[in-house]
Amino acid sequence: MKMQFFFVALFIVQQLFSINALSEQYKILYINSYHSGYSWTDDVTDGVSSHFSERDSFLVHTEFLDGLRHPPDEAEAWFLPYLAQKYQNARFDIIIASDNSALDLVLNNDQYFLFKEVPVIFCGISNPEVYPLEERDLYGVKEVDMFVASFDIMRHLYPDFSKVYFLVDRTVTGSVYRSSAEEVIQRHPDYELVVVDSVYYETVDSLVRSFLEEDAVIFYQGINLDGAGDPLDNMAMARMVSENARIPVFSSYAIDMAGALGGLFSSGFEHGVLCAQLAEKRVKGLPIDQRVHIPPMEGIFDYSKLMKYNINPDLIPLGSQIRNKPETIWSRYRNLIIGNLVVIGLLLLSVILLIRYNASQSKAKALLEKAMEKAYESDRIKGAFLANVSHELRTPLNAICGFSELVKVELEDSQLSEYVEVIHKNSDLLARLVNDLLDISLIDADAMVVNKRNTNLEVLFASLLQQAQSALKIKGKDHISVELKINSDYKNVSTDEFRVCQIMLNYIGNAVKYTETGKIVIGFDHISTLANDLDLAHYGSSYLVLFVKDTGIGIDPENTPLVFERFRSVDSKYVSQHGGFGLGLNISKNLAELLGGEVFVRSEKGKGSVFGVLLPL
Ligand code: ADP
Repeated sequence: MKMQFFFVALFIVQQLFSINALSEQYKILYINSYHSGYSWTDDVTDGVSSHFSERDSFLVHTEFLDGLRHPPDEAEAWFLPYLAQKYQNARFDIIIASDNSALDLVLNNDQYFLFKEVPVIFCGISNPEVYPLEERDLYGVKEVDMFVASFDIMRHLYPDFSKVYFLVDRTVTGSVYRSSAEEVIQRHPDYELVVVDSVYYETVDSLVRSFLEEDAVIFYQGINLDGAGDPLDNMAMARMVSENARIPVFSSYAIDMAGALGGLFSSGFEHGVLCAQLAEKRVKGLPIDQRVHIPPMEGIFDYSKLMKYNINPDLIPLGSQIRNKPETIWSRYRNLIIGNLVVIGLLLLSVILLIRYNASQSKAKALLEKAMEKAYESDRIKGAFLANVSHELRTPLNAICGFSELVKVELEDSQLSEYVEVIHKNSDLLARLVNDLLDISLIDADAMVVNKRNTNLEVLFASLLQQAQSALKIKGKDHISVELKINSDYKNVSTDEFRVCQIMLNYIGNAVKYTETGKIVIGFDHISTLANDLDLAHYGSSYLVLFVKDTGIGIDPENTPLVFERFRSVDSKYVSQHGGFGLGLNISKNLAELLGGEVFVRSEKGKGSVFGVLLPL
C-alpha cells in the first residue's frame, strides 16, 4: 500500500516537471520561400536546425512556400489556410522567414492570427532596407551583395579584365544584384558590364562558349528562373556555365564551386545559424544590437582554375579555402614522413645512448683492467717473495734432513735414535711442503721455466721404477709389486726430463700412498695404443702417454674432476693417515701444461686409479 502511494506521488511530481518543461518550450515557425531539396534552402535549414538541435527548449516547425514552382502571389491562397488548419490552436513565439517570398507573406499578413504581433527574423534578404524595420518587431540577416566585394578581388587577381558578363535571373534578388552591379560599374567607367538575365539551360553552353574576349570574365550571380520564368536547377546551371566557359568564371554562389574559378561566398548554413542565434536572443528578451546582420564571408578558389588562368595563388584573400589543390608529396605522405622521422630520431637516440653506454663501459673496463693489473702485480710480488722465502728455507732444511739421516745411522742409543727419526721424518715433510710451495709460487708468478731436451724415457722409467720400489719399502708395503710397461719405440722424446720426473714421482708417491694391496704399473706408450683403454681418443694422435696405474682405493666419480684442483684432498681419512697438502696434482697439471701437454685421471672407487700425462710428440 505504501509502495503504491510512493509511485503515485512520483508520477505526479514527474508530470508537474514535464508540464513545467513544456511550458518553457519556445515554438518557432520557420518558413522557407523555396522547397526542401533546393540546396540554398537546405543549407539555411541545416544551419537553423544545427543551432537548435542542442537546445531542448526550442521546438522548430518548418514549412515551405515552394516559391520557385508556385508564383509567390498565389502563396497566400493556399499557404495561409494550410497553416490555419495545421496550427489552429498554436501560438508561436517567433517566426523565421527565409528569403523574400516568405518574409513578404508574413509582413503582408500582419494580422493573420499566427503572425499577429509575433517577432520575425529574416534571412536571405538582399534588400532589407525596403522592409519596415523600425515599425515591426523585425530582425535579420542580409544576403550580401557579393558582386561589390568580388569586383575588387577580380581586379586584384585578374588585372587585365575590363568586361564582365553578369549572369543573373529576373527574381527579386536577381534584380537587386543586377542594379548593384550596374552601380559598381558606373563608379568604374573603364569596365563594361554585360547583363545576361535571360538564360536557358538548353542553350547556355553555346552562349558562354561565345564569350571569347581575353579581357572578359563571367560573373555567375545565380540563376533560379530561366528566361521564360520557369524554375531551374541553379547548381546544374552553374556547372554548365563553368564547364563551357573559355574565360574565367567568378561566382558568389555558395554551396559548391560548381567549376567556377572562385569568389567570395556566404554560405546558407552560416545564414541559418545567424538567424537561429537572433531568434533565440529575441525570444529570451536578450538585447540585439542591430536590426540587420551581415553573415561571415569566405573566399573559395579552385586551384586548377587559378593555374589555368595564370593566377598566382598567393594573391587570393587571406584565410580563403583552396580546393582541388593537388597533393604535394609532403601533404600526401606527411604522417608517414613524420612517423619515419620519429622512428629515425628514436634510432639515432638509441645509437647515441649505445655509444655513450659503450664509452662508459670501456672506461669501466679500463679501470677494471688497471685494477686487475695491479692485483696481478701484487700477486707476482707475493709469489716472488714466497719463492725467495721457500728457497731460503730449503737450504737449512736440506741440512737438517741430511744430517739427521746421518746421525740416525751413527746412533746406538735407541731412545735418541727414536728422537732423531722424528726429526728426520718431520724435516722431510717440511722440505716437501717447502718444495711444493716454491713450485706453486713459481707457477703463479709465471716464473717456472721448462727446458726441453732430448730425453730417453726408458732410462727415466728405470729410475722411476727403483724409486717406486724404495718408496714402497720405506712405507712397509713390500708386498705391492711395481711393474714397468713401456714401448721402447717411443722412448726418445724432447721434453724437460726433470719436470716429467717430478710429475711421475707425484703420481707414484700417491699410488704408494693410496694402495694397500695389488700392484702398481708405470709405463709409457703412444696414445693410439692406450686410447681405447683409457678413453683418450678425443685428444687426437700426436701424444705420448706416461701413466701410473694402481690397485688402490680409487676415487668416486664426483670427486674425480676435482683432484687436480689446488688444496683438494678428496679423502680426509687417508690424508690424515698419510699426510698431504693437496698441492702435488695441481703442480703436476701446471707442469704438464707448461710442457705443452695435459694430465688426466681414470679411476674407479675401490678398484684403483690411472693417473697420466700426455706429452706432445
Ligand atoms: P695430496 O698431497 O693430498 O696427496 P695431491 O694433489 O697429490 O695431494 O692429491 C690430491 C688428492 O687426490 C688426494 O688427497 C687424494 O684424495 C686423491 N688421490 C691422488 N692420487 C690418488 C690415487 N692414486 N688413488 C686415490 N686417490 C688419489
